[in-house]
Amino acid sequence: MTDNQQAILDGLSALYPNAGPELHFSNPFETLVATILAAQCTDARVNKVTPVLFRDYPDPAAMAKATPEEIFPYVKSCGFKSKAVNIVNASRMIMEQFGGVVPNTLEELTQLPGVGRKTANVVLAFSFGLPAIPVDTHVFRVANRLGLADALTVEETERQLMELIPKADWSQAHHWMIYHGRRVCHSQKPECETCTLQPYCKAAHAEQMINPKAEAKKRAQARKAKG
Ligand code: SF4
Repeated sequence: MTDNQQAILDGLSALYPNAGPELHFSNPFETLVATILAAQCTDARVNKVTPVLFRDYPDPAAMAKATPEEIFPYVKSCGFKSKAVNIVNASRMIMEQFGGVVPNTLEELTQLPGVGRKTANVVLAFSFGLPAIPVDTHVFRVANRLGLADALTVEETERQLMELIPKADWSQAHHWMIYHGRRVCHSQKPECETCTLQPYCKAAHAEQMINPKAEAKKRAQARKAKG
């Protein structure tokens, strides 16, 4: 790790000492469902719908018996109907293939409908206490702008962060970057002038200005090249 990268991690830790999940959940099943709902939706919105959803469908057994049509009205404000379909189908798979218990490995979790690597890592880190770095859009953007990673894909960013950051700090580092991305290093208009990490930030010192469109184009090209 370079001195710059260490300064960035120290700076993030000092900025967000109490960073933690902003989604509300109290067991692995709730973590799974809340994280599925949070895709392309705010945590605040998800937190508004989950208390009633979990009151009426508290576990995989109850959710597996429901239809997507029954669940959709509960979660409609979080977006697509596909989320209701995925929640019901994931619950059915948990009942049929995992004995009614949310699995605790990346391989098993990513078999569930609607569960990608990021969602699986959230469940592993925050419900099972296992070391993982869920890379969402904020973590991806902030890590690469700061120079903690130099990657065009989420998977590569996750791999580089796991190599760089001590395992004990993985979960917390994930929160630090989400907090910084939401509060300061916005996608479209990062507040570089007031950002305390600016002296160490790779993007702030790059010759070209931070350009969200160029960043998106580079990622699209990488995805295309990957096939
Ligand atoms: S200096 Fe700008 S680009 Fe760098 S982390 Fe701060 S807000 Fe983001």
